Amino acid sequence: MQRATKIVATLGPASNTEERLTELVAAGIDVVRLNFSHGTPDDHKKRVDLLRAVAHRVGRTVGVMADLQGPKIRIGKFAAGPVSIKAGQSFILDVACKLGNAERVGLDYPELIDDVVAGDVLLLDDGRTVFDIDRIVGGEIHCINRHDGELSNNKGINKQGGGLSAPALTPKDMADIKTAAMLKVDFVAVSFPKNGADMRQARALLHEAGSDALVVAKIERVEAVANLEDILHATDGIMVARGDLAVEVGDAAVPALQKKMIRMAREHNRFAITATQMMESMISSPVPTRAEVSDVANAVLDGTDAVMLSAETASGAYPVQAVEAMTRVCLAAEKSQQVTLDTHFLDQVFTRIDQSIAMAAIFTAFHLKVKAIATLTESGSTTLWMSRLNSGVPIYALTPRVRTRYRVSIFRDVFPLLTEYIHEDRDAMLYQAEETLIAAGAVEVGDLIVLTVGEAIGTAGGTNTMKLVRVGERRRSESEH
Ligand code: PGA
Ligand code: MN
Repeated sequence: MQRATKIVATLGPASNTEERLTELVAAGIDVVRLNFSHGTPDDHKKRVDLLRAVAHRVGRTVGVMADLQGPKIRIGKFAAGPVSIKAGQSFILDVACKLGNAERVGLDYPELIDDVVAGDVLLLDDGRTVFDIDRIVGGEIHCINRHDGELSNNKGINKQGGGLSAPALTPKDMADIKTAAMLKVDFVAVSFPKNGADMRQARALLHEAGSDALVVAKIERVEAVANLEDILHATDGIMVARGDLAVEVGDAAVPALQKKMIRMAREHNRFAITATQMMESMISSPVPTRAEVSDVANAVLDGTDAVMLSAETASGAYPVQAVEAMTRVCLAAEKSQQVTLDTHFLDQVFTRIDQSIAMAAIFTAFHLKVKAIATLTESGSTTLWMSRLNSGVPIYALTPRVRTRYRVSIFRDVFPLLTEYIHEDRDAMLYQAEETLIAAGAVEVGDLIVLTVGEAIGTAGGTNTMKLVRVGERRRSESEH
């Protein structure tokens, strides 16, 4: 059985060498994530070039996702390294402070002053440090620290309950969008979007830079949760960005939100990535904890398209083991799941021919328990629609378009196949599709498959035909002649 849930692996110092990257690709990563919070455009370019060379050699399709830094607010640096702060102690976030000390530290976003009032709670370092705002004096935010702890350079700041006015795309993000376009990435993740307009702006900037990358909205703000419907209309996919989300909405609210967000994404024909701390202990341990195993399995059962590794593959000691562990857990969770075709589509009205064919194909594939669905697709939309329903049947995307092959790599249940150019001659094309499926080990002679194709070959959105094919029949009838 092949893993239907996809794995996104963040690249970093632990995965930069050709040898390590080869191991990761061979272990089955589907998409790599370039974290634009770290590194220069040149670093990203080197990583992408190496990845493409490695993936080509291993013979796998691996997509590339650029993850923009976004308006992550951070404290400045300290003059003499980390400072320890006691519970009950006062501490000042000071717009004018250049280098911090035991009493105060600077801020990289002076506008924070205008977004907060006495009584607000600021969470630093992913919530490890909690500051109650006591008063605001000029450019100084006077806080009372809640727990004994330590504060070091450039730690992130979130406001509990949200409400920060920082725009989703910073000048750095706008420059990084150009880099992402230059690198021809397949996906661009936008950090801290508040609404659909933020996503439309990101897409417009990408288009301007010559990129048609799919956009991913990282849901990590209170406002984004409230505007989820609006965001889903504007984005191609979402990321359940549990790191910042937990700080903003409170950690206990995240599991239920994860389920709701994944369900809504699927209903809107969008994909979902579940991210952050999935195999966190594997940064320093060769095996995951029981809790992590359950977390990954539950994300699979929630219907996520992909699970993501962050520091585990970027800077951890066991990157390959983390991918192997995830694979093992995903496979077992997928197998445990009883396949009952989601029925919400039965109540929907489809006005597009291609979409109706996609629904008919999945319905038929489920009832006839076929071995595979083969979609001859230009844009990949057919495979996305099909994969929103859980039919238990693998969907193979056969496409001559390289871009499409990469973008379907993140859809659950969808497997891109490295196909040769598909002929204009319909019969030759269908024959070739069967041969490609056999060569890939996806089907055997005699298997029943559902095949979808557009009659006017080569037009996106042209899918208008569904066929039930007994694999190899054409071969047999030819040899009889
Ligand atoms: P980050 O996003 O790792 O870029 O912060 C993911 C998250 O917040 O969970
Ligand atoms: Mn985040």
